[in-house]
Amino acid sequence: MASISVPENIRAFLLDIEGTTTPITFVKDILFPYIRENLEAYLSAHWEEDECKQDVHLLKKQAEEDLRQNKACPVHAVDQTVHTDEEKAIREVVDSVLWEMAADRKTTALKQLQGHMWRAAYLMGKIKGEVYPDVVPSIRQWRHHGLQIYIYSSGSVEAQKLLFRYSVEGNLLDLFDGHFDTNIGAKVESKSYENIVVKIGCQPEEIMFLTDVTREAKAAEDAGMNVAVVVRPGNMELTEEERNKYRTITSFNQLELSGNV
Ligand SMILES: [Mg+2]
Repeated sequence: MASISVPENIRAFLLDIEGTTTPITFVKDILFPYIRENLEAYLSAHWEEDECKQDVHLLKKQAEEDLRQNKACPVHAVDQTVHTDEEKAIREVVDSVLWEMAADRKTTALKQLQGHMWRAAYLMGKIKGEVYPDVVPSIRQWRHHGLQIYIYSSGSVEAQKLLFRYSVEGNLLDLFDGHFDTNIGAKVESKSYENIVVKIGCQPEEIMFLTDVTREAKAAEDAGMNVAVVVRPGNMELTEEERNKYRTITSFNQLELSGNV
């Protein structure tokens, strides 16, 4: 297993999550199915709570907006077995959410409900954030060498913190010095990495960014950061050109610290 020596001037690692610290399938195979399977039970249990009412209100406004714009909408066939208005109302919300998810919509209304459901699931231990086995030992070692560790993911900072707070390896939040999401900018734009450099308060070349996506690696590189592309099972396959252009690792323990403080 070839290792890469980390440049001596590196003071911080910036880590992507999906495809880097965590299997890319976590969202597709764990998080989204959880919503589909538990949606009706969740709505029934929390229907009278303010937070749930707000979520439902937002979803209804979204559905109305979709209707105005003539987007395809779910057909709400009234089930003959429905006994109460509440059951019917819940059924309609379920249909609407499932339709939005099937269409891969990224509406605020959908994201907000999903966020609340995942938070509850993490808190109850029904979901645990996955991390590859090499991640935690490597980060501990880097920290031992005085390096700082930051996360940059398109998932919200709140979602990132849930994943690491309730991970398969326990509460990992102490490992990180800070979190960034797309509020700082899109991951494929070099301006975002410039913004992160300012926030961290060091020089771009003192940061090493690890990601599975070469467009993100390029954006970080354009901002002056060091990068390595992480190759994990299930990640999008790199082209030969990409493999030649970027340093790649299949595990964090291939990164070798030498003279780093
Ligand atoms: Mg990724």
